[in-house]
Amino acid sequence: MSHILYLRLSGPMQSWGTGSKLQIRRTDQYPSKSGVLGLLLCAMGADRDRAATVLEPLVDLEMGVRIDRPGELDWDYHTAGAGVGIRKAEGGVKLTASTKEPETLLSRRQYLLDSSFLVALRGDSDVIRRCADALRDPVWPVFLGRKCCVPTEPVLAGTSQHTSLKAALEAMPFYVDGFFEDGGTEELDAVIEHKPGSHPPENARLVYDVPRTLRYPSHGPRWVVPSKVYAARAASPTVNRIAAGRTRVDYTSDQWKVIRKERLRFDNELCVFCKSPAEEVHHVTYANAGREQLDDLRSLCRICHDACTQLEYGRDMQQHRVDPADPVQRELILRQVNRLLTSRRLGRRRAILESTRAAALDFLSDAPG
Ligand SMILES: [Zn+2]
Repeated sequence: MSHILYLRLSGPMQSWGTGSKLQIRRTDQYPSKSGVLGLLLCAMGADRDRAATVLEPLVDLEMGVRIDRPGELDWDYHTAGAGVGIRKAEGGVKLTASTKEPETLLSRRQYLLDSSFLVALRGDSDVIRRCADALRDPVWPVFLGRKCCVPTEPVLAGTSQHTSLKAALEAMPFYVDGFFEDGGTEELDAVIEHKPGSHPPENARLVYDVPRTLRYPSHGPRWVVPSKVYAARAASPTVNRIAAGRTRVDYTSDQWKVIRKERLRFDNELCVFCKSPAEEVHHVTYANAGREQLDDLRSLCRICHDACTQLEYGRDMQQHRVDPADPVQRELILRQVNRLLTSRRLGRRRAILESTRAAALDFLSDAPG
């Protein structure tokens, strides 16, 4: 048995270049070892000076990649140094011959769109644990090959123990989007590193993506073996969560208009939080969506409603509702109201203040401008 670290690399754009030259920057069709180790170094916050010592144990990790969604290749037109210029090798800034202005570097960069990979790294338990800790609380943001490539799912997908990289890649379920019937196995392409010391199989390929130093691009070789792996199909936990998300309320229905008015009347048309004139009605639960009871709702002014809604965006929108009448939540809502008043543009702030006629309230009097 050996220790395994799982990474989930999913996002609208990824780019894993290994053979790029100058202005044409290609991507491979699966994550490179240099890219994945770079991601780990970011999570660890290892700068170039420290990277040499941190990098060494990472290079020993063997890597297997399961291609859950291959995605599509596309090109992007890219400029660098516009108005600032590009440095010449001998120093100074490159000037355009015709206009003598600082030159802009044009390049074509290739991306993988909408792909998803499961990466398994196998190696020393201590190294695996350090990587997992770093990904749980990354020092710098992690990205999928290039800084513009943001992951859409948590990168750390767990740790485990398996006899081989292949067994590790097969142990993790293949998540099916949308409608799903239980059961079944998915055949998936994988690229599995072949450990040095034994003869590589016939179909093994040599790739140059093992970083040797971070001071300049320098990469050593490793053998990788294109393989097929078989994983159990399962419904995506993300999709299930979204499907179970907040109930939509028909705000045009007569039922809603009646109960909304009733609640406003019940609260004397005042915001239950700050007692300025209420204009809006907030759900403290969606349990009775479509047939709301008086107690499911609270009247609020616009600012307090915005503050409550913003607090809820930090949680899920369904289970953890903010009740503005609950004294326990008071500090949190007050802080959010103040944040709203300092961060919004002046014109917008004034409009909100005027519309809620809340300017006279003392808790707002400290708000700037
Ligand atoms: Zn209010």
